[in-house]
Amino acid sequence: MVNIKNIITTIILMLVIQCFYVNYTASGEPENEKKNFFLRSESSEINYEHFFEGKKHWCNTMVINCSDFRFARAAQELINEKLGFKGDYDYFSIPGSIRNMLNKETRKLVMDTFGISVRLHHVKRIVIIAHEDCIGYGGEEAFSDHEEEYNRIVQDMKKARRLMRFRFHDLSIYLFYGRIIDDNEVKKFEYEQIL
Ligand SMILES: [Zn+2]
Repeated sequence: MVNIKNIITTIILMLVIQCFYVNYTASGEPENEKKNFFLRSESSEINYEHFFEGKKHWCNTMVINCSDFRFARAAQELINEKLGFKGDYDYFSIPGSIRNMLNKETRKLVMDTFGISVRLHHVKRIVIIAHEDCIGYGGEEAFSDHEEEYNRIVQDMKKARRLMRFRFHDLSIYLFYGRIIDDNEVKKFEYEQIL
């Protein structure tokens, strides 16, 4: 009886190992090649040296944005070009932007994380960016129309601003709402400042 149990256990173990081996080898992952991507200041329009000069670890702005890749480039354009901050900011990219800050279960962790920037980098202003069709809100399908979606997200942004003012008294806080615009079948992005 004991021998039969041992044999069955051995067979099961062999099957498990076989499955693992097949799955592992079938995953098709390439070998981990070492590649370096250098961003040299002399080969770029951006002067990376200035990040390490002068005031050292200080920056003026903290940006909180949704991690949605579709808005990533447009948001960078807004921050760097339109607002002119040009790398003078800490950047937080979180699904749903300020949603985790409004959630009571995660608020402390998120606020404490923001607090590190404010304290260590001497941040003077906060920019909060949210957008339409945000997966953090269930996408645009979660709303009956764009107006309802806009009102809900703007309401959340204003609530986030109130919470931040309570925690970070002296900071200016700016809100921006991003939209995707169809301009003659070309997709464009628009950011509206919420006052
Ligand atoms: Zn989003």
